[in-house]
Amino acid sequence: MKEVHVNLHNIRNCICGKCPSFPGKWREMAHADMPGLFCAHGKSKLEIEQIGCICGECAVQQEHGLAGMYYCVNGRAAG
Ligand code: SF4
Ligand code: SF4
Repeated sequence: MKEVHVNLHNIRNCICGKCPSFPGKWREMAHADMPGLFCAHGKSKLEIEQIGCICGECAVQQEHGLAGMYYCVNGRAAG
């Protein structure tokens, strides 16, 4: 398992934006509190309704040998 760094490659590969649990209002927020890449950033400050997590389909997850879910709720992946 490798630590996930905040870099352009990982930001582009993150599919949190397609996740059903991802709060739809994030695009309206001026202060970008919903950056995705929660496996690197850690928990979201917003309340997440856990109605599915698609991290298992994500290239970042695969490239780093991760197996977790709901990083937006549980916090960053342990590196
Ligand atoms: S593993 Fe999950 S939190 Fe991490 S980049 Fe992929 S979709 Fe986003
Ligand atoms: S960490 Fe998982 S549940 Fe949270 S927004 Fe990303 S894909 Fe969805």
